[in-house]
Amino acid sequence: MSASITLAKGRDKSVRRRHPWIFSRGIDSVKGEPELGETVDVYANNGQWLAKAAYSPNSQIRARVWTFTKQNIDKAFFVSRIKSAILIREAFIEQGGLTGYRLIAAESDSMPGVTIDKYQDYLVCQFLSAGSEFHKQNIVDALIECFPECTVYERSDVAVRKKEGLQETTGVLHGNAPTEPIIIEENGIKIQVDILSGHKTGFYLDQRDSRLQSMKYVKGKQVLNCFSYTGGFGLYAQKGGAERVINIDVSQPALDIAKQNSEINGFAPKQAVFLNADVFKILREYRDQKTKFDVVIMDPPKMVSSKSNLTSGARGYKDLNMLAMQILKPGGTLLTYSCSGLMESNLFQKIIADAALDAGREVKFVESFTQAQDHIIDSAYPEGLYLKGFAAKVL
Ligand code: SAH
Repeated sequence: MSASITLAKGRDKSVRRRHPWIFSRGIDSVKGEPELGETVDVYANNGQWLAKAAYSPNSQIRARVWTFTKQNIDKAFFVSRIKSAILIREAFIEQGGLTGYRLIAAESDSMPGVTIDKYQDYLVCQFLSAGSEFHKQNIVDALIECFPECTVYERSDVAVRKKEGLQETTGVLHGNAPTEPIIIEENGIKIQVDILSGHKTGFYLDQRDSRLQSMKYVKGKQVLNCFSYTGGFGLYAQKGGAERVINIDVSQPALDIAKQNSEINGFAPKQAVFLNADVFKILREYRDQKTKFDVVIMDPPKMVSSKSNLTSGARGYKDLNMLAMQILKPGGTLLTYSCSGLMESNLFQKIIADAALDAGREVKFVESFTQAQDHIIDSAYPEGLYLKGFAAKVL
């Protein structure tokens, strides 16, 4: 008999609606002694079988559902999940000629806690839940079956692993670590990805579409690219004919790659500068010196990480956007984003409205953005939609 959990009375609705998270407060009893990440059967209070889930004794999310149908959780299960993920993405990967894309978007691909990005022949994985750690070898074996030519590299150096009772870890799981830079191509732009020590799995693939859309605003313009990371929007601005692009980030390794990225694309060296600075500080300096820009791109890291810091995070977004408006010329363009899942699009819009009031500027939204297509969203898991953004004219 495998271990099982029985949900409290009336706490089975969300599982029946195929949401993958089971919170500790929704559980009535646990049978057996499931170990960290072990697969357990999930029953409703009336004894009806509902799902198979990974048990996570240390987390508020006590179990994450692998499947709502009776099947074994083994290599074959993960092969089938990966094949579905490929099928969903096939058309647009081929059409876009994508050499870097998100293959597995965790819960949204019905693989809770597992993120896998593919850069050329490198599959870079994050195993962030107890269940994904428990089945790591099965997942790696499934990846090898689906992509025999690929290296599998782990980047589970993410703090959330602690909540699941796991240590941070990185390294090669199959094949060989890269000996030279990996270069992907995105909308005709070459981008070097450092899978060994870059942020997350190496690159922010989710902004691919927004980066492309940003190009139409930049021709002949003075562009300020805040939180540039390895170039990102700045490279598109150069390609789009910006007169000058100032890229700002606090990570020197990221800025070094940003400069190299500009070079490997053959862009004019004088067109871009790469500045190691704190965005919050430098925006105030520009404001006080009355330095103005035609376009400001604002793509900060996640500033709302839990419900308890929604207010302080919202203040951060408001400050940044207000400062951006203050340094924009009349009629300038603000391209602004939030990757905080807990901040919904309408709240983000209100924050920008507040920033506009405080900056004393009129703001007209002209376009809205979301995460790139390979960052799919499961209809039963709305949390999968986390990235939002706007293009706005600031009068
Ligand atoms: N726009 C990028 C992704 C940005 S990720 C792209 O398209 O690829 C967020 C970046 O913000 C990271 O590179 C991080 O180093 C940087 N960062 C975080 N805090 C910062 C701060 N206070 N000032 C400047 N950069 C910061």
